[in-house]
Amino acid sequence: MKKQYVFGFEKGDGHNKMLLGGKGANLCEMTQIGINVPPGFVITTEACLYYLEKPENDLPAGVMDEVRAQMRQLEEKTDKVFGGSENPLLVSVRSGSAMSMPGMMDTILNLGLNTDTLKGLIAQTGNERFGWDAYRRFIQLFGKVALGVPDEAFDDVFDAVKEKAGVKEDVALTARDLREIADRFLETVETETGKPFPDDPMEQLEIAVKAVFDSWSGKRAIDYRREFNITPEMANGTAVNLCTMVFGNLGDDSATGVGFTRYPDTGENRLFGEYLVNAQGEDVVAGIRTPKTIDMMEQEMPDMYRELQVLRERLETHYHEVQDFEFTIENGRFYCLQTRNGKMNAAALVRTSVDMAREGLIDKRQALLRIQPDLLEQLLFPRLDPATQHAPVARGLSASPGAAVGLAVFDADRAEQQGHTGQRVILIREETKPEDIHGFFASQGILTARGGKTSHAAVVARGMGKPCVAGAEGITVDVRMRKAFVGDHTISEGDLITIDGTTGDVYLGEVPMIEAEFSSELGILLGWADETTHLKIMANADTPQDAEHALKFGAMGIGLCRTERMFNDAARLPIVIEMIVADTTGDRQAALNKLLPIQREDFKGIFKAMAPRPVTIRLLDPPIHEFLPSEQQLVEELEQLVHLKDTVMGMNILSDAVRLIYSGREMPVIGDLTDPMLVDEAIEKKETMLKKVRVLSEVNPMLGHRGVRLGLSFPEIYSMQITAVLEAAAECGQEGFEVSPEIMVPQVCTSQELKKVKSYVDSVHAAVEAKYGVKVDFKFGTMMEVVRACMRAGSLAEEAEFFSFGTNDLTQAAFSFSREDAENKFLPMYNELGILQDNPFEVLDIKGVGKLMQLAVEWGRETRPDMKVGICGEHGGHPESIRFCHDIGLSYVSCSGPRIPMARLAAAHAALASTP
Ligand code: PEP
Ligand code: MG
Repeated sequence: MKKQYVFGFEKGDGHNKMLLGGKGANLCEMTQIGINVPPGFVITTEACLYYLEKPENDLPAGVMDEVRAQMRQLEEKTDKVFGGSENPLLVSVRSGSAMSMPGMMDTILNLGLNTDTLKGLIAQTGNERFGWDAYRRFIQLFGKVALGVPDEAFDDVFDAVKEKAGVKEDVALTARDLREIADRFLETVETETGKPFPDDPMEQLEIAVKAVFDSWSGKRAIDYRREFNITPEMANGTAVNLCTMVFGNLGDDSATGVGFTRYPDTGENRLFGEYLVNAQGEDVVAGIRTPKTIDMMEQEMPDMYRELQVLRERLETHYHEVQDFEFTIENGRFYCLQTRNGKMNAAALVRTSVDMAREGLIDKRQALLRIQPDLLEQLLFPRLDPATQHAPVARGLSASPGAAVGLAVFDADRAEQQGHTGQRVILIREETKPEDIHGFFASQGILTARGGKTSHAAVVARGMGKPCVAGAEGITVDVRMRKAFVGDHTISEGDLITIDGTTGDVYLGEVPMIEAEFSSELGILLGWADETTHLKIMANADTPQDAEHALKFGAMGIGLCRTERMFNDAARLPIVIEMIVADTTGDRQAALNKLLPIQREDFKGIFKAMAPRPVTIRLLDPPIHEFLPSEQQLVEELEQLVHLKDTVMGMNILSDAVRLIYSGREMPVIGDLTDPMLVDEAIEKKETMLKKVRVLSEVNPMLGHRGVRLGLSFPEIYSMQITAVLEAAAECGQEGFEVSPEIMVPQVCTSQELKKVKSYVDSVHAAVEAKYGVKVDFKFGTMMEVVRACMRAGSLAEEAEFFSFGTNDLTQAAFSFSREDAENKFLPMYNELGILQDNPFEVLDIKGVGKLMQLAVEWGRETRPDMKVGICGEHGGHPESIRFCHDIGLSYVSCSGPRIPMARLAAAHAALASTP
C-alpha cells in the first residue's frame, strides 16, 4: 500500500506524536473530541526525514498531490478558495516535533496571499488596513523563514515608514502606510534574493513546507536539542501543520491569546493567561505589545471567557495534564489553535501533582512520574533575604521564580563568552528572540524591558528553571551603547545587578540571598515517593547542624559522617597538630585525650539530631599530613619568623634608646614589642612541623598512608574515635535517646584489616559497656572503594555487617584516573570525542564501576544474606545512578542534604519503573 504522508485533523492518530509531532497529534485529538480547531492537516515527520536524507532535498513522491487533495477539502469545509480572488483561503504553516521545542523552529502565517487574493481578503473582511497588515506580515515572515531574508532588512523599512508617518505605535499606521510597507518589503525580498516574491500560493506552500523541514537542521534547533539531550530517537524530525487562518485582528470582537489551565509559576488551580484584543498571535508571544491578564476578559468579553473556562476543563479532563494552549477569537467566534503539556517550574509541577492527584485527575504514580527528579533542584534556589533593606529600581513581571545576581550583559554572544569564563551574568534585552537561546544557557537570569509572562523570555527561562523578570517597562535598553537606563540610574555592561523572578523586582548591585524552603506540597509528594520504594535515602553530614538540615530534606539517617571534617575546625586543629607531631605514643595519647571529649560531643549532637535513625561514622580517612601546612608554606613562614626575630630585637634596642632620650618627659608610643623568646618558641614549633611534614611526605598520598592503613599504624587514633562513638551512644542512651551508631572503616582492601580494627572495636566496646553499665548496640562495616575489596566482598562480609560503596575513590581506582588531573586535563576532550559519554565522577560508570558493585553485592550477600549495602560517593545523589543502585538491590543511597529531595523522587521513579 502506498505510504500516506498527509493526514487531515479528523483522521490523524492523536496518540502518534512520533509521526505527527506533538502539535499535530494534539490538533487531531482536539478536533476529534469536538474542540473548535480551525480545519487543517499534518504532513508527517516521515516526510521530513525522507526530505532531509535526500541529498537533492526532494519531498517524497506524491506528497504534494496529497497536500493538494487536502487543500481541496479545506476549501470545501471553509467555503473559501486557495488562491481565489473573491473569498481566499489562507493558511498557517507550523513546525511540530514529538518533543516540544518552543520557538525553536519557524512558523509562517497568512500563506496564500498575493496581490489578487489580498483584494479578496479586503473584500471579505471589509477592512483594508487589516488586509495590508496581513500581507506585509506574510511577506516578512515568509521572506525571513522561507527565503532567508534577514530581519533587519525588513525592520529598517518598517521603521522608516513609521518615522515618515510620524507614529510611535504600529497600530497607528494607516492602510496606506501598510501598503507602502508591503510594496517595499516585496522590493526588499527581490533585492535580497535576486528573485521576485513567489505569487503562486501552491508554490508558496511547497517552499514553506520545505523551509519548516529545513529548520529542523538549523543551528537554533540543533543547539536546543543538544542542550536538552533530545536524541533523534526521541524526536525524529518535524511534522508540518497546515491550518486555516483565523484572525484575531479583525476588530474589537477579535482577540488572540495564550492560556495555561493552571498557573505555570505557582501551580495554582486557576486559569492563567494573557490576551490582546485586535491582534495576531505572534504579537503576544513576541512581546511586541504588553498583553492583558486573562481575568480582564471576564469583563471585556464575558461569553468568550466562559468558552475559555469550558476549554480549560475539557483539556484537563482529556489530557490529565496541565495544558498550555493558544486561542484566537475571530469576530466573536472562539478557536483553539494548539495545546500541549504545560512547561512549568518545579514548584508548579509539585503543586499540580499533589492537587491533581487529590482531585482524582491522576493517580499517585502519575503524580510522581510527571516530575523529573533533577528539576527539584530548582526548589532549592536561593531567594532574596526578606530582611534586605535594598530598594528595587524597577519592577517587571515575575516571569520565572528565583533570584539571581550577575554582571549586566546586553547580548547573547557576550553572555555566552562571559559565562564560559565562569562569570555570573544577567542577560538584559529589550525582548528576547529564539536566536538568543545560547545567551540563556550562559546566564544566571534574564531581564527584559518588554513582553508578558508568556513572552519568549518568560517561557524559555521557566523551562530552564532560570530566574526571569520580563516586561520591566521602567527600563530602557540601548544595546548599541551597552547600557540600560532606569530613572536616574544607568546600568552599564559589567555592572552587578540582582533580579528577583519571584517578585519581578530589579536591584542595582548584589542583594543578599537566603536558601529556599520546603513547601508542604513537596513534603506530601515526597511522602508518596517514600511509600513506593525500599531504597532509603541517607545524608552525607558531618556536624549536628548538617544533620538537622538534612532531616528537613527528609534524610532517613546519615550514610557518611566524615570525621576528618571535625578535625579541621579552627579550635581543634592545634590539638590535631599536637597529635600528629607527637614523637612518642605517650605524647600522642595526651593529645588524643584532649580530642576524645570533643569528638564525643560531636557524635552526641549528631546522634540526638538523628535519633532513632542510623548514623554511619567513618573513622579517619585522609593522610594525616593534610592537617599540616605544606612544606613550602612552612619554609616561608620560618624565613619570616627569623626576620621577625631581628626586628623584635631591634625594636627592643630602639625602645631602650628612646627611654634614655626622653628621660623624665612623656615618651612617644613605639608599639607593642614582642618578647624574642616567644618568636623563638614559634620558630621551634614550625621547625618541628616542617620536620614532620618531610617525614610524612609521600609520592602519591591518595594511594599512600591513609584510611585503615593509617589506623593500623596508629591504633590509638582509631581507638579514640571508636571510644568517642560508643561513649556518645552510651550517654545518649542514658539520656533516653534511641540511637543506632555504625562504625565504618575506610580504604579497606582485605578482611585482615577489618579483623584488626574489629579487635580494637571489641575491646573498646567491652570497656565502654563496663564503664557505663549499659548495653551499647552498633554495627561494624566497611567502605568499598578499593577494587580488591569488591573482588573479596565475600570474605569482607564475614567481618562487615554492612558495605558502603565509596564510588569517588572506586571510580578513580577502576579507571586509574586521578579525579583532579582527569577533570582538569583530559576528561573534557574524552567527552568531546565521545570516548566517554559522561564524566564518570558525576555519572556512575555502570558498565565498569557498576559491574564491580554488582559483583560485590552478590558475593557479599552470599556470605551474609541480610547484608545492608549502600553508596556514599557523589553518585548517590544522581538520578540515573540511583536507578542503577535500586536495580542491583542496594539498601540505601547517601548524598548531600540539598540533593535528598531529588534522590527520594529518583528512588521512587526507579521503583515505579520496575513495577509496571
Ligand atoms: C568515596 O570515595 O566515594 C567517599 C565517599 O569517600 P571520600 O569522598 O571521602 O574519599
Ligand atoms: Mg573515599
